[in-house]
Amino acid sequence: MSMKAAVFKEKNGQLEIVEKPIPEPAKGWVRIKVISCGVCHSDFAIQHGNPFPRTPGHEVVGVIDKIGEGVESNKFSLGKLGAVGWFGGHCGSCPSCLENEWAHCEKGKVCGIHYDGGYAEYMTCPEDALVFVPEGMDPIESAPLLCAGITVYNSFRNLNIKSGSLVGVQGIGGLGHLGIQFCHKMGYEVIAMSGGSSKKELAKKLGAAHYVDMSKDYIDEMKKIGSVKCILVTAPNAQNIQGMLESLGVNGKLVMLALLPEPFNANAGTLIGGNKSIVGWASGDSRDSADTLHFAKMNGVKPMVKSFPLEQAREALEKISDARFRHVIEFKK
Ligand SMILES: [Zn+2]
Ligand SMILES: [Zn+2]
Repeated sequence: MSMKAAVFKEKNGQLEIVEKPIPEPAKGWVRIKVISCGVCHSDFAIQHGNPFPRTPGHEVVGVIDKIGEGVESNKFSLGKLGAVGWFGGHCGSCPSCLENEWAHCEKGKVCGIHYDGGYAEYMTCPEDALVFVPEGMDPIESAPLLCAGITVYNSFRNLNIKSGSLVGVQGIGGLGHLGIQFCHKMGYEVIAMSGGSSKKELAKKLGAAHYVDMSKDYIDEMKKIGSVKCILVTAPNAQNIQGMLESLGVNGKLVMLALLPEPFNANAGTLIGGNKSIVGWASGDSRDSADTLHFAKMNGVKPMVKSFPLEQAREALEKISDARFRHVIEFKK
């Protein structure tokens, strides 16, 4: 039996559609028949240094189709909807795993990097990477929650900021449009922050109470609104870091959720003066994905998606920057 898959055949190569055997689940692994796979900027990373050939994709939703020998969890019954995100498995015995920090496992696997991901009709993954998708969730809209969604939801909930506080979400793209919805539904007063005013109306529709145009003098405007307890930074630019730090209220946190190509400068006096901090957060593990899906279902948090057939996977990835807001590869039933 064969299937279609998109693969990078070599370093710096382009995505190609190939016909290959349907994978068999190894011991402790599960196979899913893929329904949808979100397209993420990180999918480019494997193009430049990875064992090849490799199928990318780490925002995968599909039907559990075959269960490997020795799979212990009974929640993964055949025919149910399962999902895999960036977290692709952990060892259970390294120092991070012993601290219950699976996402930081020293031998951790990433779906679509250490093994073939979801740009294929079928894929297999270790059982600890798989989560159960709550009934009634749309598989196409669920896919981006497995990477973009968990990144904003899980980082924010771990900041332990008092509910009702004022929080900023910088950038209104793939991560930011979910960040606004999650923070709003979790009971916070959200300031959406972006350059220009073209996204103002959208930000308000997503639940932002305020909109701040960062191409103007936004620091004073932020301070006028109130004491901002954190800013989720989803589309950073090295020139804005110091300004965002100044915009924060006392004990405020600048939370870095996306990579910056260059180093940035921050004034130690600004950090000391207001007990402020700059922190990073790396999405989460499969247990956090399960919580993200559950919260999104209960509260109607939905990514805005545009779907593509597998044959157009290359286009979906190459045009990712035009995405309003997440591209998803959708498989024929
Ligand atoms: Zn991703
Ligand atoms: Zn480990």
